[in-house]
Amino acid sequence: MRQGLLIELTNLMSSNAKPRHNPTMLRHGGALLPSDGRENNLALVLQILLEHGAHTRAELSRVTGLTRVTISELVAELLTRGHVVETGQQEGKRPGKPATLVDLNRSGLRIISVDLSSVLPFTAAIMDLNGKILHSFALPESHETATGEQATAQVLELIGQALSHCDLPVLGIGIGTPGIVTDKGEVRSAEKFGWVNYDLRGTIEQATGLNTHVLNDADCAILAEHTFGSGSEHMLLLRLGRGVGCGVITHNTLVRGAQFSAGELGHVKVDPSSTQRCSCGEQGCLEAYACIPAIKRALESGESSDEVGQLVGASLASAVAPLISVLDIRNLIFTGPQDVVNAALANWLLAALKERSRTARADDFQLNISQEPEHLVLRGAVVNVLFHELGIS
Ligand SMILES: [Zn+2]
Repeated sequence: MRQGLLIELTNLMSSNAKPRHNPTMLRHGGALLPSDGRENNLALVLQILLEHGAHTRAELSRVTGLTRVTISELVAELLTRGHVVETGQQEGKRPGKPATLVDLNRSGLRIISVDLSSVLPFTAAIMDLNGKILHSFALPESHETATGEQATAQVLELIGQALSHCDLPVLGIGIGTPGIVTDKGEVRSAEKFGWVNYDLRGTIEQATGLNTHVLNDADCAILAEHTFGSGSEHMLLLRLGRGVGCGVITHNTLVRGAQFSAGELGHVKVDPSSTQRCSCGEQGCLEAYACIPAIKRALESGESSDEVGQLVGASLASAVAPLISVLDIRNLIFTGPQDVVNAALANWLLAALKERSRTARADDFQLNISQEPEHLVLRGAVVNVLFHELGIS
């Protein structure tokens, strides 16, 4: 487990190191052990390659502030592990022997991602390290969403399909699931599958022999935006689906909460006096207004899209505006199926946020719609594997 190794990375570099500004490298809270120093330096090299592409050893030494000897040792170790490859000679005008470029082993490693949050039962994909989908796999639409062990069997069937089509080494399996997921990859509760305190990670690892990392779907989505999209050090993501999901990153740290349920926004009461019934049995919850099925029902019942947009925007803003103000968030990502989460709905949300939060009225506050909403969870599951296996994001 590499978890917790990124904290205070720059403190471990040599005293003459010039830490580069890295606004989008994920951190993870937790104690730092002295033995983590070397792993952190390995991760630092990989992070530079992930973000900026191939470098020579001399360039890596310059960028990190680590000595040439140290960089050579680190690169040698990464070559042995298969995490980097030499990609050729640097084109240069200077005389002398051309320097060799090293890069992340982008073409030689794969990640298997699984999205359990989609409307179709499940999706799995063979992904590259840049979060690109190479091949995707889905169970036939005729499959009912299974629960319990049967759901696990379906997940394993899909992973098996992906693995049988993958002819390169697999760095790990990343799974994004609805529900509350602990830092050990145990699903504390996922109503959709009837999982309670279920060791999904352990089950998948035992069956496949591959390192597996499980995370809540909204948390996956925000990791995808943080690494591959319009990420920033302090950001919030709002995701409409069967429910309403929310992911929070502050100081480049994914906020998980005391019981791993940070961002569970769906059953916040936005109108305690309402008689609008929620799937949880109570009334006036955010989800009762703002989940995709509720929005579609309202539109089908003859309400105008403006009426629906205004109500949904106001409901979401009631729950989210306090978070934006308290955490001083300037970057809100709004995501969900594109036929519903569109510019018009985003404008209703933005207007309602501005009414409720001074932070949302600031000039630098941005609300962006996610560009590739249908693949966010798969791509975020890649980030989660990169983070835990290589210490990079
Ligand atoms: Zn509810």
